[in-house]
Amino acid sequence: MKEAEITVIGAGPAGLSAAIEAAKYGANVEIIDENALPGGQLFKQIHKFFGSKEHYAGTRGYDIGRKLLSEAENLKVVIKLNTVAFGVFDKNKIGLFDQKDILISKPKKIIIATGASENPLAFPGWTLPGVMGAGAVQTMINIHRVLPGKKVLMVGAGNVGLIVSYQLLQAGADVVAIVEAMPKIGGYFVHAAKVLRMGVPILTSHTIIEAKGEKEVESATIAALDQNWNLIKGSEKELDVDLICIAVGLKPEADLCRMLNCEFTYVPFLGGRIPLHNEDMETTIPGVYVAGDVSGVEEASVAIEEGRIAGISAAESLGYISEEESEKERMKCKNRLKAFRIGPFGSPRQEGKNKVFEEYKRRTKNVK
Ligand SMILES: Cc1cc2nc3c(=O)[nH]c(=O)nc-3n(C[C@H](O)[C@H](O)[C@H](O)COP(=O)(O)OP(=O)(O)OC[C@H]3O[C@@H](n4cnc5c(N)ncnc54)[C@H](O)[C@@H]3O)c2cc1C
Repeated sequence: MKEAEITVIGAGPAGLSAAIEAAKYGANVEIIDENALPGGQLFKQIHKFFGSKEHYAGTRGYDIGRKLLSEAENLKVVIKLNTVAFGVFDKNKIGLFDQKDILISKPKKIIIATGASENPLAFPGWTLPGVMGAGAVQTMINIHRVLPGKKVLMVGAGNVGLIVSYQLLQAGADVVAIVEAMPKIGGYFVHAAKVLRMGVPILTSHTIIEAKGEKEVESATIAALDQNWNLIKGSEKELDVDLICIAVGLKPEADLCRMLNCEFTYVPFLGGRIPLHNEDMETTIPGVYVAGDVSGVEEASVAIEEGRIAGISAAESLGYISEEESEKERMKCKNRLKAFRIGPFGSPRQEGKNKVFEEYKRRTKNVK
């Protein structure tokens, strides 16, 4: 088999879109994913997406995953599943473990699209069985069809907390309450409205203070917070629950970028430490690109557009597409991205990205 010119790590919406774009222009592309199924988070999303035609509005997340996957297969992208990229050495040697052997891939270009991981939340009782992250809960109900609990406390009213609450209701669980430490709901109102209509209380300025149970979760104690985030004494309430689902934010899964010595900056609104990259998605290490949640936690449609940009940039750097043509194609993606980065939810993300681009320029000025 011909050696891949581009290795894409992560087969979520960003990685698949990057692979499709680069392969479209003739590059020889492989894509690596640690899971048995490609699609990343998309295969957990059973709801219909909204937005525009280019971002599959009205299509369920897992169907978007299937479409991207069949497009990649038609373009002869080599998809290596059950394979983890455990390290990157000497700038282009990727260490892979396929559950049997250790392999080394030596592509000319690398696109890192490893997504995000969930933030934990520590409180007394947090190690009891029955305290789970929202990602694990989604995997259990939407992929394995197993209901991890019947009476649920959701911690966090961002989009993930709201959507997973709705999915738990659809799967037959009773969501007893959603607590949110901030004074307002963090997710889109359309998602909040769905759970409110089903009778689930969303308690803002509230948090969990303890999980109780002999061998597993039997109850959760919640309490109200004042404007300085101090517990309001006497507001404690014990809820009869057997599942506490934690949805308190995501952070970029950027360990491979760290191993490569990519430079980072801190942007809280995009999930914390972000590998610096320019608008064409190239990091401070030439020939290494990032796309999707690893380059700042946003959403699947953004991941698709960033993946496309990274794929075009990598194909251009290998000479498969002229500078003029790639500029034109990237501009289409950048214009579509703008639409996601406006309004009360979008503009702080645009500001965060601008900080990343500016910082990239500043730090690479004398290097490139
Ligand atoms: C729990 C959770 C729930 C979400 N719910 C929604 C939702 O309902 N609606 C919505 O629009 N968005 C949702 N999102 C956000 C959306 O799914 C993401 O923005 C989008 O999937 C990001 O795409 P991505 O390709 O960057 O990453 P991902 O979809 O996360 O894909 C990354 C892939 O890389 C793989 N990977 C990571 N590291 C390695 C490695 N070292 N070696 C091999 N493979 C690796 C991962 O296993 C994964 O398959 C959710 C995200 C999370 C974490």
